[in-house]
Amino acid sequence: MRALERVRMVLVGTQHPRNIGSSARALKTMGFGAMHLVAPEKFPHPDASALAAGADDLLDGACITATLAEAVAGCTLVLGSTATQRAVPMPELTPREAAVRLLEASRHGEVALVFGPERTGLENAELQLCHASVCIPTDPDFSSLNLSQAVQVLAYELRLAAMAEAGVDAVRDPLDERPPATHDEMERFFAHLDEALHDIDFHKGRSGMTVMRRLRRLFLRAAPDEREVRVLHGILADAQRMARLAGAKKSQ
Ligand code: SAH
Repeated sequence: MRALERVRMVLVGTQHPRNIGSSARALKTMGFGAMHLVAPEKFPHPDASALAAGADDLLDGACITATLAEAVAGCTLVLGSTATQRAVPMPELTPREAAVRLLEASRHGEVALVFGPERTGLENAELQLCHASVCIPTDPDFSSLNLSQAVQVLAYELRLAAMAEAGVDAVRDPLDERPPATHDEMERFFAHLDEALHDIDFHKGRSGMTVMRRLRRLFLRAAPDEREVRVLHGILADAQRMARLAGAKKSQ
């Protein structure tokens, strides 16, 4: 996903190498090809590789700097993720707003989303380097996510925003790509359905109007494509054939 290439995901002062590994995995699943680490406590580390579960390329290529200022140098927008409001007064964005803002700004240059250390979160001095903070709405009485889970949630929002920007549906059904049957095809099908319902004596002497109205609504809502309508014609034709055979047997 090209739009994500200009978003730097920056982990500051991470204490547990396992969190670096699971963050790499979280990022790779969402289509990120890089991660930035500011003064990680223990890295490289076998625990990081173990938890990366195949996202080793992100670990091997991690961009490591000594300070946050170096990690975000050249960025036109820097957002800091925090579980709690800090002393530094700054605008607070929801994950969705943050994702849209980051992608918009990434058109003009690189941008960054920053995550703090497990124990303390981002320090005020670090938050002061940020244009705004992002808070994942959680239960106020239990608001702090595991670092890599926070990375996953925000990376997911960025992916959704990038997909929306690229006009890609999050869940794509390959069958949806065929255009729905035309009005004429649907009317031919309804005529066939009406005829078949009579042939199999579905109405048993009652008027079939209400049923047909319901069935029209059902099939129009389903918006079948031309191929699906053909299958339905096939089923009706078979039912009619069986009804004719049964009728012929009865009259013998
Ligand atoms: N005890 C720390 C928690 C740090 S968790 C604190 O109170 O801030 C490690 C990092 O995960 C945080 O610095 C932040 O970047 C991210 N994070 C955790 N929960 C979050 C939430 N609800 N919203 C946004 N980011 C969160």
